[in-house]
Formats: sequence, structure tokens, C-alpha cells
Amino acid sequence: MINSHAHLDFDHIHTTAENAMAIVPSIGKQNWQQVQIYPYFSLGIHPWLSESHTQKDLDALECLIKCSNPIAIGECGLDFAKDIDRRQQLYIFECQLQLAETYKLPVIIHAVKATEEVILFLKKYPKVTGEIHGFSGSEMQAKTLADMGFYLGFGLQILNDKSLKLIKIAQNLAIESLLIETDDHANPNDLMLVAQKIAQLKHISVKDLSEQCDNNAILLFGLQ
Ligand SMILES: [Zn+2]
Repeated sequence: MINSHAHLDFDHIHTTAENAMAIVPSIGKQNWQQVQIYPYFSLGIHPWLSESHTQKDLDALECLIKCSNPIAIGECGLDFAKDIDRRQQLYIFECQLQLAETYKLPVIIHAVKATEEVILFLKKYPKVTGEIHGFSGSEMQAKTLADMGFYLGFGLQILNDKSLKLIKIAQNLAIESLLIETDDHANPNDLMLVAQKIAQLKHISVKDLSEQCDNNAILLFGLQ
């Protein structure tokens, strides 16, 4: 089973499920090197860290992208729930979309209280594809993004029975647009729990669900 978003480098002990392959995103210059020990890593600047990155860092990021073969750009995006300068967030995000277009790489996007703005930006870069990880937008936005060829990542949030909106979105979203993930500080069984929950919601076997999600990740990230 492929874990489409796991910050394995956040944990000193590697707590991911042993049978899971993982896409390991970086969050900024502080871990661009660390994530490279994993077979599938991505390079980018998380919106939470946009204020501590400058044009010089973006240039360094471009250099690393050219020489170290990441599978994607990210984690990048917008987070309007946090008190972080929005202009700087927009600037850092758009620069990364330009890099994704230039180097023909998918993007891994963090979008919180900013899914509409993210969609507007993505429409400016129609050749760029990717994943909205830990999706938290509306059902309409989910449909728009899926129609644009984007994949939506679902994680532990789906296990909460109070996440009614998210559960409905996962139920209605085409399985071809779905990815599963554990994000930060995962326990070994977390990915399986997410797969089981979504399989149950979609009335299919866990095997069918995880095979399809694996294929989606392989296709999006060009995994070997
Ligand atoms: Zn993340």
C-alpha cells in the first residue's frame, strides 16, 4: 500500500507501516536534505514556512529540483487559517507552481480555508497536475479539482464519525481520483485504518481500494 503523504523524517523512530511505501514531502529548506534518504521524496516550501523563505531560497530549491530528481514539488499551498502573511504565501506558492510547470512535476498541495484560491491559481497553470493532500474543501470544490485531473488525499480525519462532509465527499468521489495518506506522526496501522474506512464507505474490498489508490499514486508521481 502506498502512503501518498507521510512526514517520515519528523519521527526519529520510523513508525510507518512496514509494508507501506511512502511519498515523503519536505516542508522547507530545513529538511530538503533529510527527505532525500527516502526513495520517493518531494521538495518544496510549506505555506506555514513561507515567511522564512526568500527568492534566494526559491533559487536554491530550483537548483535542487534540477539535480536531485524529486518525484514532486511540495508540500506547497495556501493556509488562510494561520496568521501568516497572505501575499508572501501567494508568492511562494505561485513560484512553486511555475517550477512544477517548468520541470513537468506534479505538486503536493496543502490547502486550508483556501481551497477556492488554490483552484484559481491552478487554473492559471493548466498543465500542472497533483494532489490536494488532507482535503478539507467542499463537495463542489472536490468535483472541480477532480475534473481538473487532481487527486484528493484522505487521511485519519475520515475515521472521525463527525467528519460528515468529508465522508460524503469520499463516498461520491470517483475512486480514480483518490489517494490515502497518514501525514505527520503516523502509527503503523494508520494507513490500513484509512483504507478500511474508505473501502467500507465505497462498498468495495480493502484490496480493490488499495490497489486502485496505489495505481493512482503510481500514475500521478510516475513511480517505478
Ligand atoms: Zn504534510
